[in-house]
Amino acid sequence: MTGPNPALCFPALNLPSPLEDFDFPPWRRHGVPIWVKRDDSIHPTLSGNKWRKLKYNLLAAREQGISRLASFGGPWSNHLHALAYAGRRFGFETLGLVRGEAHEALTPCLRDCRDWGMRLERLPRAEYRRRQDPDFQAELARRFGPCLVLPEGGSNALALRGVAELVAEIDRPFDLIACAVGSGATLAGIASALPPGAQALGLAVLKGAEYLEAEVRGLLAGAGLAAGPWSMEHGHHGGGYARVGPELLSFCAEVEASTRLVLEPVYTGKLFQGIGRMLEQGQIATGTRLVLVHTGGLQGLRGFKQPAK
Ligand SMILES: *Cc1c(COP(=O)(O)O)cnc(C)c1O
Repeated sequence: MTGPNPALCFPALNLPSPLEDFDFPPWRRHGVPIWVKRDDSIHPTLSGNKWRKLKYNLLAAREQGISRLASFGGPWSNHLHALAYAGRRFGFETLGLVRGEAHEALTPCLRDCRDWGMRLERLPRAEYRRRQDPDFQAELARRFGPCLVLPEGGSNALALRGVAELVAEIDRPFDLIACAVGSGATLAGIASALPPGAQALGLAVLKGAEYLEAEVRGLLAGAGLAAGPWSMEHGHHGGGYARVGPELLSFCAEVEASTRLVLEPVYTGKLFQGIGRMLEQGQIATGTRLVLVHTGGLQGLRGFKQPAK
């Protein structure tokens, strides 16, 4: 890559991402001022927390002269989608290790990845389960050629540093900042960057995911970062990861119709729906200045049918 930045240059990214008022009529009566951190608008493709998490990984790879990046994901992985695009944009070869069987059809998400030059290989579920095992990763490097392996979701120590920047960009005082939790890296990065007096809240989108608290602590410790006060809610997963019912879809449609904010149901829809329930139950005090992080992921919307109007 040539350009003013010797490492990588990131033109055409809408940063800092905007912080917008969220005035949703059904929530007005709670008296909780809400802003949305619009990380979904960083770039049409390279957006959300997947961009935040990739940034310092790409810079480190470039500095170390690594030209090939591999990572893991499901057939609708926002992370593989962002990695494939970043690879094409910044000149890395990419390898996507996709959970599933070789005969399964490519989703629109994986078709994009392929079209951007990502080599796709399926890992049957029994193998996919070993994705964090260093021996297995060494075996993959032998099988598919040398590469830097990023964890699923891009969730490593360098990811936290990129996520922390979204908090630093917020230029007005707030009391609480909330995000959806998959692996916990986004919550960890946010918790590491809280201004004095602010708290972070994560809403888990996986069922039975009480282990995620330890993941967040582990990610913070692994990155050598201290954290401000943070907590996680486990009652808003809506039945489990990527379980999407009609009620959630109509909630997302209602938000879009009245605020123009587009949510996808796997992460941000569950975050906003969960926050709505917490407001309803008085779990967020009147006057709390609340920031909701829109972590992007809108490419995944192609996997869901819109509810009948
Ligand atoms: C991956 C993802 C998350 C979860 O982030 P973690 O860092 O894995 O907790 C949240 N929102 C969107 C849109 C995502 O794609």
